[in-house]
Amino acid sequence: MPEKFAVGVDFGGTKIIAGVVNLETGRLAGTGKKKTRQVSEQDDVLRRLTSVIDESMAEAGVDPKCLAGIGIGAAGQVNRAKGVLVYAANIGINDLPLAGPLSEHYGLPCMLGNDVEIATIGELNFGAGRKCDNFVCIFVGTGIGSGIVQGGQLYRGATGTAGEIGHIVLDPYGRLCGCGCLGCLEAYASRTAIAKHVVAELNKGTDSVVRDRIDVSKGILRSKALADAVEAKDEMVVRAVTQAAEFMGMGLATVMNFLNPQRIVLGGGLIEAVDLYFQVAAKEAKQRALKVPARKIEIVKAELGDYAGIIGAALMLRDRTD
Ligand SMILES: [Zn+2]
Repeated sequence: MPEKFAVGVDFGGTKIIAGVVNLETGRLAGTGKKKTRQVSEQDDVLRRLTSVIDESMAEAGVDPKCLAGIGIGAAGQVNRAKGVLVYAANIGINDLPLAGPLSEHYGLPCMLGNDVEIATIGELNFGAGRKCDNFVCIFVGTGIGSGIVQGGQLYRGATGTAGEIGHIVLDPYGRLCGCGCLGCLEAYASRTAIAKHVVAELNKGTDSVVRDRIDVSKGILRSKALADAVEAKDEMVVRAVTQAAEFMGMGLATVMNFLNPQRIVLGGGLIEAVDLYFQVAAKEAKQRALKVPARKIEIVKAELGDYAGIIGAALMLRDRTD
């Protein structure tokens, strides 16, 4: 059967993963993976992308005639119409054309989207957003982003940036956020915020089991190390995670009051690894939101994990309207 598959690529700040996706079932026929390097050379980025795509195609062994095209989700601002990655702070890229060169290389249509929106499309079709027309997918990691689904469609806003929930201001005199403003949710509830809290405590001499598992100079603390510390009932880490999750709950309450969604889907490495964060955030959100929107809200975890992005990216090819 022609065009039953598409390649989906998740081009993130730390890794590039690709998969050949069955567009009818959402199943993966083959995958490929590589670390992202901090690069600005266009040729190098394209070489890394094609090597991951080639790996997934080789593993899938699918006839290229059955491929509808290639979809890419990138962690950054994208120009969808031109297929250009406009700005990706975590990868060190400005104005990089991706869709055009890849389309030429493979002789297939290629589409570019933002990583959060494509992960939301993945969850909408084959994950925790199935059979739900009004929901918000929120991903917590180094930052906090969200995708909004209204009437079964992704809502992008007037200029395509809807869902920047990480920059809801909680305290106008508060912590400095990566966006340059003070007091954004992201500066309190992201994994980066938790790592900063932990580093500050360690610098004060607080005892903790994460001492050997954090790069104090860079403030890098992986979700698995946090999960292990919570499991070990490490007091300082439990406090840091609980506090961040309470702030997340305030952000969720704002989303519930403002949009009145049927469901909130929480995803990302931190949510997957640390159940305490999820539980505290969900409870805080329900307590803080207005009674009517809080009454029927379903707060659930994302289901597709790392593959939400790949699947969503591939589905752009199925759903394209041009
Ligand atoms: Zn901000």
